[in-house]
This record gives sequence, C-alpha cells and structure tokens, in this order.
Amino acid sequence: MKDLQQLLEFDRKHLWHPYTSITDPLPVYAVESASGVRLRLADGRELIDGMASWWCVIHGYSHPELTRTIQEQAAKFSHVMFGGLTHKPAVDLCRLLVEHSPAGLEKVFLCDSGSVAVEVAMKMAMQYQYARGRKNKNRFLTIRGGYHGDTFHAMSVCDPVTGMHNIYSGVLPEYLFAERPTCRFGQDWYPEDIQPFAELIADNCDQLGAVILEPIVQGAGGMYFYHPEYLRAVRTLCDKYDVLLIADEIATGFGRTGELFGCDHAGISPDIMCLGKALTGGYMTLAAVLATERIGVTISEAAPGVFMHGPTFMGNPLACSVAVTSLQLLLNSDWRKNIERIASGLTRGLAPCADYSQVEDVRVLGAIGVVELKQPVDMARIQVEFTDRGVWVRPFGKLVYVMPPYIISDTDLAELTETICDVVALGNE
Ligand code: PMP
Repeated sequence: MKDLQQLLEFDRKHLWHPYTSITDPLPVYAVESASGVRLRLADGRELIDGMASWWCVIHGYSHPELTRTIQEQAAKFSHVMFGGLTHKPAVDLCRLLVEHSPAGLEKVFLCDSGSVAVEVAMKMAMQYQYARGRKNKNRFLTIRGGYHGDTFHAMSVCDPVTGMHNIYSGVLPEYLFAERPTCRFGQDWYPEDIQPFAELIADNCDQLGAVILEPIVQGAGGMYFYHPEYLRAVRTLCDKYDVLLIADEIATGFGRTGELFGCDHAGISPDIMCLGKALTGGYMTLAAVLATERIGVTISEAAPGVFMHGPTFMGNPLACSVAVTSLQLLLNSDWRKNIERIASGLTRGLAPCADYSQVEDVRVLGAIGVVELKQPVDMARIQVEFTDRGVWVRPFGKLVYVMPPYIISDTDLAELTETICDVVALGNE
C-alpha cells in the first residue's frame, strides 16, 4: 500500500493525464492488471470495463492470441525503419484493410495515431488538389459537433464551440462548418437536412479540397448518431462539386456501429478513410489512411512526385502484426450477431434511464450506449460512484456512455447497465 501511495503521489505531482490540470487533477486509479473485461486496480478492486479504453480494446484485455502475436513478433524484430524496408506484418495488414474496407480504397499509409492519420489525410487531400493544378482548393468543410484529434489541423475541423478554436485563434486555419444533421439514425429522413451543407459546398467549392466528417457516429464531439441519408447526400454533393470526401472512421471502424465501417450504413465509399483505435485491438498505437488509386496516382505523377510524409515509427511491425491478428479474430467471428446482442443488452439495460427527470436522451447504436443528461456531470463525484460500484465508466460533459469490449458477457453487460441506471438515478429529483 505504501508503494501504491508513492506511485499515486508521484503521478499527481508530475504526470499529465488527458485533458487535466497539473495543479488540481482529478484522482486517478492505478491499474495492476487487466484481462477480459476486467480491470484490476492496485488497491485490489476489480472493475467491469465499459469503455474498451476509448473504443480500442474490442477483444478484451490480455487476449492470449494477441499477446502471443506480440511476443512472437518481438522475438523476430520489434521495429525497423519503413524507408527502403518492408515486412510481412505490414503487407498482411494492408492486404486485409484493402480487402475489407469500402470499395475503391487501394493505397494505404500507415502512421502512429488517430490525430496523425487525420493530418495525413488532410495533407493527402491538399497534395492531390495541388497535383491537379488546383492550388486554391486547399480548405476543408466539415460538420459541427465533430472531433478529429488534438493536433493542429485536426483541431481546425473539431467543433468550433467544444473544440479549442478560441485558444488557438490566429494560428488554427479557419475552415467551414455546416450545421450538425438534425435527422437522427433510425428516425425519419427529411431532405431539407442537407440544405445548409449543400449551400456551403456549392458556394465554396472553388476553395474546397475535401469534406471531412465522422460517418454516422460523431464520437467525442457528442456521441451523436445521424441519418445515413445525410452521408449519402454528402457523397453525392462531393462528387458534384469536385471535392474529396474524407471519412474519419477512427472511432466507428471495425464493427462498433453494427457495420464494419460507418460508411457501410450508407453504402458509400469515401475517397480517403482514416482508421485507428480498434485497429490493433487496443494493443499498440497504430493508424492507417486509405485512399483511392486516383489519389495515389495523381499525387505521385506530379511534382514533387512523392507524398510528403514519413514518420519514424511508420508501419511498426509489433503494431502491424497484432493488428493482423486482431482483424482476423474479428472477421472470423460472427461479429455482426455479437454487436446486435450487445445493442439489445444496452437498449434493454439503459431503458430505465429514459424516465429520470435529469435525462435528456438515451440512445444506442451497435455496441455504443449513451445516456445524455440535461446538465454536465460532476466528474469527481460520478467517477467515485461508478468505481465504488465496480464498473469503469468515464463520462464527459453531459454524456454517460459506454462502448464495452465485444467479448462482454450478458451478465456483465446487465451489471454495467444496471450500475449506470443506479448512478444516474442518484441525481434524480
Ligand atoms: N478521430 C476520431 C473520430 C476520434 O474519435 C479520435 C480519438 N478520440 C481521433 C480522431 C484522434 O485519435 P488519437 O487520439 O489516436 O490521436
């Protein structure tokens, strides 16, 4: 216990956690080990994980096949530079990605994290337009409520209100934002919903290189599910006005929404697609940017003749090898039926929340369950309430949400949702 206290004290004094103050941080919990859907804390408690470590750990923690893959690859080589060298883990992974991603995405750029993938995708779109002699088509259009990462260009297309636009104004490029779609997933479609977007793209197409959005599910920007017709209409308008479509599937990829990719709900293919998070089953940081043949060829056939990006850890073999195993585990499973099972469990389990006066909305899509409150949660209090009841749920703003590992049992799922109902009920008037 003394060691644990020292660890937490050092952490509190010296370590920055995501989106936290260094002088007044919220408490953190030390994890000792994790397996399946259980996090074991250093103080001996066990928590059912509702977060899959922010969408990543789809097969659960300490999965024997994933662990073995990493060990075997580490015994061969953990890393080699990707400049001038290649290897089977990278090739096997890209073969799987090309085969299973929406039609037409043929060229793969591997990189380190989601935000970097978004930077790469935006650079690719710009370089494509530059290569075609359309240097002015170097701006972006997106929709409000989005989140694409914390690096500069990614920030520039995050929601201007909830993002960090104010702090970095003057440095962040100023891009165009259409209203968030109002037609929700599973509800009626009204063609007027696309009007604000249609006007923006028509008025600005001369300067627009690409549209970037999260298909169907806006994640960190509000856990909002919108109508596939909206995405279909965006695809049509992008084609009409000669603007590329970048799908940020970093959160939605790999079955989470009930289709393998968010775009599959609308039956469309983007020109560029970003993948990350669950790509390695949460074992390593890795992201991929897929693009069409046309984009690859156009960039390569004009000066400077190369795509100008090349990170040190590009194509890291440990990450690629575990991504191959993770994808095979997913594709060889009946993932669609399993996601439906989780969706039913979430729908059933979270339904009581809809009756609480402090709840604005309860929604479920695939293996994502959201309870939206009317007021922001008190993080310090709610985190303790969840942890004391044996579940790991990390709300933000007004959102209490879960996206558990796909291996969660019905019993654990029922306990997770019951606990959410109990904790949300605490604030009931
Ligand atoms: N795009 C989306 C849709 C995301 O959800 C995230 C991460 N929450 C990112 C980009 C950024 O990914 P990373 O945190 O790996 O940089």
